[in-house]
Amino acid sequence: MKHGATPDQVDGVVSAIESMGYRARPMPGAQRTTVGLVGNDGRVEEGHLIGLDGVLRVIHVSQPYKQVSREWCSEGTVVDLPNGVQIGGEDVVIMAGPCAVESREQILETACRVAAAGATVLRGGAFKPRTSPYSFQGMGQEGLQLLAEARDETGLAIVTEALDPEGAVLVAKYADIIQIGARNMQNYSLLRAVGRAGKPVLLKRGMAATLKELLLAAEYIVAEGESRVILCERGVRNFDNHARNLFDLTAVVTVKEVSHLPIIADPSHGTGARSKVGPMARASVAAGADGLLLEVHPDPSTAVSDGQQSLNLDQFDKLMGELDMIAGAIGRRIARTAIAPQT
Ligand code: PEP
Ligand code: MN
Repeated sequence: MKHGATPDQVDGVVSAIESMGYRARPMPGAQRTTVGLVGNDGRVEEGHLIGLDGVLRVIHVSQPYKQVSREWCSEGTVVDLPNGVQIGGEDVVIMAGPCAVESREQILETACRVAAAGATVLRGGAFKPRTSPYSFQGMGQEGLQLLAEARDETGLAIVTEALDPEGAVLVAKYADIIQIGARNMQNYSLLRAVGRAGKPVLLKRGMAATLKELLLAAEYIVAEGESRVILCERGVRNFDNHARNLFDLTAVVTVKEVSHLPIIADPSHGTGARSKVGPMARASVAAGADGLLLEVHPDPSTAVSDGQQSLNLDQFDKLMGELDMIAGAIGRRIARTAIAPQT
């Protein structure tokens, strides 16, 4: 719409789109309102729309992922968390914690230390997608309760994984961000369920997924009505064996070009080895990632999962100091919580 288009003019465009048999999504922006059109399967005849009062121009979205494309919305999406932290803005958001919640002591100690070092989101799986059915599957709801307790103690927001549609409803009751893991990136019934769960979603790239497939998976969530989607590069299958995965930092840059969604990086799963996590975390911030997801454990040698790629608390402390400097060098800073923790 033209700058200063009136609400009546926007309504006129919405009615015109609906009378053509499509759905309209008005999106007020800082400069002007955009009205999105969904429900078409092919090019839309623009003649009915171009001459309406207040219309500036009609843009045809060329990508199959539509609502998550930059063509749909040129301004970047910013996801607000309850602790005042924003993902997708100027700040780089650090999410840290163990692969899995293992005990009250383990998660509270980790939460206190990563918060003191400057993390603003606590990670930790309560439902774990394990390659073997005989491996530890997570603490379940008790793990979610421990994460909520850690949030109350520290002011950290919580990100934790949901494995199935029923689990998504339960996770949404406790978490501030619902994580969809690599193994479930193309689980379309789960994507639809999290799109209706009412919480922001962290969507990890599948182990062999193209960026187009990642963005189409995000489109499933947005199409259900949840626009707060954060993408995550966590490495893809590799033909070499020098690292667990091939950590694809060009994904961060490319996603920023073609999508308005924030993208963070997970160098823990991306590399699979503690010695490689720090360097690739620094590189991710330098490349423009909106945040990092890092596995941190008080005693990695005893971790029930992913100990080999977990930093200990001192290593995390040191890394945070380095990340501060790298963020500063590119005109960003590491996010801080705006809300003091409850005591
Ligand atoms: C995790 O974050 O612990 C995890 C299981 O990651 P991914 O889905 O990327 O393998
Ligand atoms: Mn893990």
